Amino acid sequence: MIVLQGVSKVYPGGIKALDDVSIEIPEREFAFLVGPSGAGKSTFIKLLIRDEIASSGRVFVNNQDVGRLKHKHIPLFRRKIGVVFQDFKLLPYKTVRENVAFPLQVHGILDWKVLQPRVDSVLELVGLPDCLDRFPDQLSGGEQQRVAIARALVHGPLILIADEPTGNLDPNTAWEVVQLLIKINAYGTTMLMATHNREVVDMLRRRVIHIDHGRLVRDEKEGAYHAA
Ligand code: ADP
Repeated sequence: MIVLQGVSKVYPGGIKALDDVSIEIPEREFAFLVGPSGAGKSTFIKLLIRDEIASSGRVFVNNQDVGRLKHKHIPLFRRKIGVVFQDFKLLPYKTVRENVAFPLQVHGILDWKVLQPRVDSVLELVGLPDCLDRFPDQLSGGEQQRVAIARALVHGPLILIADEPTGNLDPNTAWEVVQLLIKINAYGTTMLMATHNREVVDMLRRRVIHIDHGRLVRDEKEGAYHAA
């Protein structure tokens, strides 16, 4: 669950990226975050994963007051949030298997007898069971995004945040990735997807959270990309 209460973010230099935003996203929601470039979407996401701290107001994620998290608790907090990006951010010199296992290894799980079943199960979920030993540059864009999604899911997060996940994909592949996100959401993971993909938003008719110049300008239950 995500709650923002009167959240503003002013960057050094005085740019107000978010301006008094209040919103609640309940568990299991599928919400789109839309708005023009520079609207504040990435800042919104950075506040949720404690990449940035709000200048004022409060941010709660999974009942945790994110701004008040102690540094030593941030890694554990982040395990409950998966994040995927437009440019996949895979490690180029690691295979698919190693990329997906990496977040677990960082947290001290090193035994492949423990890692392997978890890696296999998320790769099966995203539909890539046969690519284990390939490197990212041996995969298509859509396959790379699936690996990134598998990696984001390997800790069993409560929330999956996708920042423009279809931005580098052709329309058909974009749809396949979105269908996968819908499936993951149907299994119970809360989904927040920042996007410029008008076609996807208009077809799916899910919740639309629209920000512009840092302000929440629209929050519709079964919204379209543009206001009606
Ligand atoms: P979006 O993701 O919707 O394109 P951003 O959250 O990246 O929007 O940016 C919102 C505003 O904040 C923009 O004016 C941007 O230039 C500014 N901004 C973003 N990050 C920083 C930063 N680290 N320092 C200063 N200004 C920033």
